[in-house]
Amino acid sequence: MVSDLRFDGQTVVVTGAGGGLGRAYALFFGARGANVVVNDLGGSFKGEGASSKAADVVVEEIRKAGGKATANYDSVEFGEKIIETAVQTYGRIDVLINNAGILRDVSFKNMKDADWDLIMKVHVNGAYKCARAAWPHFRKQKYGRVINTASAAGLFGSFGQTNYSAAKLAQVGFTETLAKEGIKYNIIANVIAPIAASRMTETVMPPDVLENLRPDWVVPLVAVLVHPSNKTETGSIFEVGGGHIAKLRWERAKGALLKADDSFTPTSILQKWSDVNDFSKPEYPSGPANFMELLEGSIKLPR
Ligand code: NAD
Repeated sequence: MVSDLRFDGQTVVVTGAGGGLGRAYALFFGARGANVVVNDLGGSFKGEGASSKAADVVVEEIRKAGGKATANYDSVEFGEKIIETAVQTYGRIDVLINNAGILRDVSFKNMKDADWDLIMKVHVNGAYKCARAAWPHFRKQKYGRVINTASAAGLFGSFGQTNYSAAKLAQVGFTETLAKEGIKYNIIANVIAPIAASRMTETVMPPDVLENLRPDWVVPLVAVLVHPSNKTETGSIFEVGGGHIAKLRWERAKGALLKADDSFTPTSILQKWSDVNDFSKPEYPSGPANFMELLEGSIKLPR
């Protein structure tokens, strides 16, 4: 079915498209009629150096296959320049895939400010800067599709990756709010936690496992989510890789509603600890209002 999905006349910006997952997205959209902005800073996976080669090679591959593509070599920290490339070259932007990323893995004990700051700059500020620059175009044309890239490390934690985990879970909150603000303007935003063979994973996984984790097997889900036919799936988190796709969501335990007065003590919480942890009948909250509803009867809520 995905082979039927086309993106003719649309402009798709893929950040970090010089390798790994980004390259796979760029080739896919280039083969399906889109104008592709292939952004890549071309540095190492630790975020050192820069080169135009990574983006140029992918642009060449798309063009050779008969597609339309243009390169951009800016860091995502300067997202406005990337979006400018799209608008100046093709007159519009329809899809933004925030994919660029680096690693600075180190145990928390040995974490340096520089390791923390660079990860925040590339992942958090980078996704923000690109989306911020695309947003006015999306709103004006009442159309936009965004994919942000989280990670299992952000959702669940991962040894040696406090910086990366924090930056990756930030993508979830960012996306959930973009989805809420965007829906009125037909702007759809989703976040994926992919797993794929790339230079990021090739040193930590054996070759036979990597063979089953081709970046191409993340692409179809992204295509479904950013296609014009998707008008409702927004603000969602998906795990994807090696042929597996699943949505994730927040789950709330039964919980305990204690009186918000002097009887609310550490001991009163401990007495209700099993309710606080009781997931036998979970709820799936989707916004702050859900929490306030829980307080009905306990505190006076504004009407
Ligand atoms: P990759 O290293 O192959 O690709 C990342 C690309 O981003 C590189 O080409 C790099 O040059 C580019 N890049 C880095 N910093 C940049 C910057 N400041 N501006 C522009 N481009 C920049 O790695 P990948 O595995 O394809 O990762 C793609 C995304 O998926 C990343 O956000 C990564 O954190 C995320 N991710 C990957 C996996 C996985 O299993 N591969 C798992 C979870 C999350």
